[in-house]
Amino acid sequence: MLFCITGNGKGKTTSAIGMAVRMIGYGKKVLFIQFMKGQEYSEISALKRFPEAEIHVMGRPGFIKRNAEEEDKKAAREAFDLFISKLDEDFGLFILDELNVAMFYELLPMDEVVSVLKEASETRDIVVTGRYAPQEIQDVAKMVSEIKEVKHHYQEGIPAKKGIEF
Ligand code: ATP
Ligand code: MG
Repeated sequence: MLFCITGNGKGKTTSAIGMAVRMIGYGKKVLFIQFMKGQEYSEISALKRFPEAEIHVMGRPGFIKRNAEEEDKKAAREAFDLFISKLDEDFGLFILDELNVAMFYELLPMDEVVSVLKEASETRDIVVTGRYAPQEIQDVAKMVSEIKEVKHHYQEGIPAKKGIEF
């Protein structure tokens, strides 16, 4: 099945991590591929403690500009190819964190991604996260959750906090 966690509120990646923890608790392996981020957040350090978790953080540090650079596309390509190469391995869950954002910035061809996700999710459980989930991905997903920002401490000028945001 394909699960899509999107929306502008906080909690998408941490929700996917929660699903990973649940699957690991069930005794299965989890593949976690993070698109668009180049640095290791604390949740990654935590997941690394589990031998059942295989983690790949791919992408360049820092925020992407509106016009994706070739390097961003290359990083997304590598991450997606890695996902494809792992499809026949014995993972209970595949997480493609921030893939929605990568698609929003057109880092990967939509037709290809949709067709891979469609076929792969017939026999595997896959989670994609990130704001701006394209309609095409939502259409393939059997579950779409939209986390809506009601308020966020950032608007009060409270900076991101270690252990809470990263
Ligand atoms: P989290 O990793 O906490 O689950 P997320 O995956 O939903 O958040 P992203 O869109 O990946 O959020 O954003 C990455 C960073 O921006 C995180 O540090 C997150 O806490 C922060 N963030 C998320 N939502 C908001 C928001 N509505 N306003 C400001 N910052 C946000
Ligand atoms: Mg996130």
